[in-house]
Amino acid sequence: MSASPVLPSPALEPSISQAIAAAQPAARRSRQAQVRWGSRVVTVGGDAPVRVQSMTNTDTVDVIGTAIQIKELAIAGSEMVRITVNTPEAAEAVPHIREQLDRMGIDVPLVGDFHYNGHRLLTEFPAMAQALSKYRINPGNVGKGDKKDRQFAMMIEAAIKYDKVVRIGVNWGSLDSELLAQMMDENAARAEPWDAKQVMYQALIQSALSSADYARELGMNPDNIIISCKVSGVQDLISVYRALSERCDYALHLGLTEAGMGTKGTVASATALSILLQEGIGDTIRVSLTPQPGESRTQEVVVALEILQSLGLRAFNPSVTACPGCGRTTSTTFQELAKQIDDFLREQMPVWRKKYPGVENLKVAVMGCIVNGPGESKHADIGISLPGTGEAPAAPVFIDGEKALTLRGENIANEFHALVESYIEKRFGAVQAA
Ligand code: SF4
Repeated sequence: MSASPVLPSPALEPSISQAIAAAQPAARRSRQAQVRWGSRVVTVGGDAPVRVQSMTNTDTVDVIGTAIQIKELAIAGSEMVRITVNTPEAAEAVPHIREQLDRMGIDVPLVGDFHYNGHRLLTEFPAMAQALSKYRINPGNVGKGDKKDRQFAMMIEAAIKYDKVVRIGVNWGSLDSELLAQMMDENAARAEPWDAKQVMYQALIQSALSSADYARELGMNPDNIIISCKVSGVQDLISVYRALSERCDYALHLGLTEAGMGTKGTVASATALSILLQEGIGDTIRVSLTPQPGESRTQEVVVALEILQSLGLRAFNPSVTACPGCGRTTSTTFQELAKQIDDFLREQMPVWRKKYPGVENLKVAVMGCIVNGPGESKHADIGISLPGTGEAPAAPVFIDGEKALTLRGENIANEFHALVESYIEKRFGAVQAA
């Protein structure tokens, strides 16, 4: 019997390279908005990386509480933070929040979220209009009848006057009811009417794009317009954004609205956003998680960063590869070590980002036994393969693909911890020095 060939036949190679090429996220060409505060410029769209946004859940009137939460979100990695501006008191608070952040050295741009009375607030509180870097306008909530265009125009005029970016953000929970009714009537008159869902998708897109057209008629620079059409169903979001992305070249803000809590919200958001981002759709994202009791608001930022990093679109934090464990490892040592290393790396990142450029690309492996441990550890920059049940009490450590040493005894965790730190210092400290 002849031996099987070790290498695939040359005929297979093109299909492999095609598969690799197809796995790269596609690029959609969009306009680029620049969201500014002071010397900080956050580019959105065009050739900019996909940006991460979040939103506070404090009462905006609470200046200190809101500034603290914005600081936490910014440190966690949010590149823009949206705050509710719903009352005159909230509008009054905005410049004070901005000052407080500036005093703390937090230059993250603030986005004002307006509904119903934004036209009045942006006109009557110029310091607020100036302190914000971007206005979110919901065309479904700017007014009814003849007031609608007038009030929308007042908001756009404020954006033009203060040179701010706007997001025209449609949400199907607050879709323009007059537009929807009109489109339903038009649909009923069709020889072959569309189904109701199709009309709803069309109404969402129409509401956003006709509002953008009107903003441009009023003199708004199209580069300063970002669009979103948020829905709460994964398949609905994918359908709406695929259609939207073909019909305009505005930068697109992406997010599953009312995603829900915990695992459900995280998985639904990751599923919907990943499919669209892989197709090159989406220039900025928000993961709208309902915090679980006691959970930090920053969780939505953590999930957004993980989505972008998992897709290979951006790198924010060193990654820790850890096996799930199985019957070969009956102790929790490797789980504890994986968690310790992950926590340690995340805690250090605010300092390390500046001190060790490129450290976010570090790959660490913590594996439970010799089955996949040495192999996976060799693929990481630094990895450890812990002893499984019945294996010799020794943990080989691999550095840059080579076995470097073996740890033994009770202090393996601390010793590996020190090795990781020293590896980072040597590899990424050298970059800084150079
Ligand atoms: S590396 Fe070992 S312990 Fe981990 S899942 Fe694989 S077989 Fe189980």
